[in-house]
This record gives sequence, C-alpha cells and structure tokens, in this order.
Amino acid sequence: MKTVSSLLDSAWHERYKKISSLNIRSSIYDVTNQCNLRCKGCFFFSSNEHQAANEEMDIGKWSRFVQKEKERGVNLAILIGGEPTLYLDRLETFYNMLPTYCATNGLIKIPRERFPDMMVGISLWGDEEDEKLLRGKDTFAVSGKNYKGDPNTYYLYTITPKQVGRIEHVISKIADVGLKVHLQLLTNDENVDGFFWTEGKLKDVRAEMDDMLEKYPSTVISCKYYHEIITTGRMMKRAFGWAECPSVTEPLDNRNPQPKRLIRFIRWASDLQTMHRCCTSATRDCSTCKDGAAHMSWVMVNKRGHLNSTKDLQNWIEVYEMFAKLYRFIPW
Ligand code: SF4
Ligand code: SF4
Repeated sequence: MKTVSSLLDSAWHERYKKISSLNIRSSIYDVTNQCNLRCKGCFFFSSNEHQAANEEMDIGKWSRFVQKEKERGVNLAILIGGEPTLYLDRLETFYNMLPTYCATNGLIKIPRERFPDMMVGISLWGDEEDEKLLRGKDTFAVSGKNYKGDPNTYYLYTITPKQVGRIEHVISKIADVGLKVHLQLLTNDENVDGFFWTEGKLKDVRAEMDDMLEKYPSTVISCKYYHEIITTGRMMKRAFGWAECPSVTEPLDNRNPQPKRLIRFIRWASDLQTMHRCCTSATRDCSTCKDGAAHMSWVMVNKRGHLNSTKDLQNWIEVYEMFAKLYRFIPW
C-alpha cells in the first residue's frame, strides 16, 4: 500500500484535501408511510415497510428526535418515505436543524420560500412509457414544471433494463428544463416481467452511461468508476452484497467479520423508534441489490483498498466528490 501524497500530483491532492475533511455522517428517515403514487418495484411498499411502524403524528416529538439525532453526530439527514412532501412540517424540523436532502417523486412542489436551499432529489424511472407502466403516470410532465431551473434540485434517474439504448431521450429532457441528473439502476423488487437485468444489458448500460457523461458533462453528475461498480457489482475483485454492504443500520449490524461501514448510520421508521435493516428493503436479496447510494458508500468507506495506484485513488476521489456534490457538501 502506498501513501496518498506519493500517488497524487498537486491538483489531485487539492481535490483530495477538500473531500477528506468532510466527515459525512448520514442517516435516513422515513418521513411518512404514505405516498401519492404506488410504483411497481418500490422497495418501501413491496417489503411492507410502510406497516413496520405507526407514524408519529406529534410534531413536537419530531423536533425533539431531530435534536437528538444532531447530538448523535448526524450531519446529513436523508428524508425518504413514502412521499416526504406530504408532511412539510416534518421536513421543516429537519431542515431547521441539519443539512437536509429530500427524496421526492416531484408531484408536489416544495415551497422554496420555506426551504430556500434544501437539496431535492426527484425520482424518475424512465421515459413516459416506462413511467406510466411502472408508476401509473408520466411524473416528469409534472415534476419538470414544478422544479424547472431550480439550482438545488436534481433528478435521480433509475434506469430500467428496458431503457437501455434509450437513455439519451430522458437526459436531454432533463437538460432542457435546466436540471442535473444522477443515474442509478432499478432493482426489480416486485419481479415485474421484462425488467430483469442480464449480463449483456448491464454491459450495454455501462457503455451508455459513460457515453451520456461525456455528452452531457454539465447535466450528468457521475463518474465512470461508479458506472463500473454499479453495473458489475465488483470492486477490487470483491463482490457487493450483504457481507460488504456499508449501509446497514449500525445497532442492528451483527455481521462477523464487520466490513468497512458507514459510521453511526441508522435508517429510522416514521415512529422514530423502529429501525430498518438498511438503506433499502429488509426483504431484498442483497445479491440483486443495485442501490446507487450503497454502492457509492461502498467505494467511499474503502479508501485503503484504493491506495494501490494513482488511477485507483483518483477513481475513489471522483466517487467521493460525486457523493459530496449530490448532497451539497461541495458545489456541482
Ligand atoms: S413515489 Fe417513491 S415512495 Fe412512492 S411508491 Fe413510488 S417509489 Fe415508492
Ligand atoms: S439490500 Fe442492498 S442496501 Fe440493503 S443490506 Fe442488502 S446490499 Fe445493503
């Protein structure tokens, strides 16, 4: 293993210094068990996580809970659901106390006068056809209008196997409304016919993601190493899965041996007491998991493994920078 200084020139070393001091401590919160959509393949509903706990309705309890999370050392609150925008008062308790990111389907417009710089990630599952099939409506038609040109919003585009060869249409629509996009892959949690990945499709989608990054560099927030990791599920000859996943709730993590993991990470249910196993679904087969954030975090917690060569360390820096951009720790 080599040292960071011996592997990087001064420009890369500057980039390294900017991210290595960030010390990100994230946790994930189910803001509500309800949603205004019911997408086929939604990990939350398909694994019955919406029934895991009764939603806390007392806003005072939310406020005290967030304060405790802050004291626990959390410096990034990732709000999911259900659909978080159904409860703006709960969003506000987080936003007033912590750096906050809100994942939404974009159908409800977050009032910017109340949340001026909150980072918003809008879920998108493909083009009009796939969105109607999987989510029951063309959400972009609404979300694109709601968030057009918003400097603190990006699309989280979940690419499905059916999208392969047709990604550019979606990317260019996003570029046209002046927003950024981050790419991830569908995990077919509800076994929808025609939406399974094959080796061939994964190879093709990797090439297409690389191509989109080159063609739309100011729209696509990504890097090629991330594309490699998420499409192959392999990093340094290791396979992603339960034994390696960094995004497991810490108090429930009884793996032995312990892999490198996110420190103090917890995914909380909406009763503010129940914990879910990980950042996605407790019933998901980890060997099929394509969760983008878990793969990114997998790279990030394994810096030592990337100290073999200059290229490996640069790859690590690019993934870390991508994560930091997506959650507003550094500018786009
Ligand atoms: S919008 Fe999100 S939370 Fe709601 S059903 Fe779809 S994937 Fe699930
Ligand atoms: S389902 Fe995915 S995120 Fe959850 S523990 Fe398994 S690999 Fe990790």
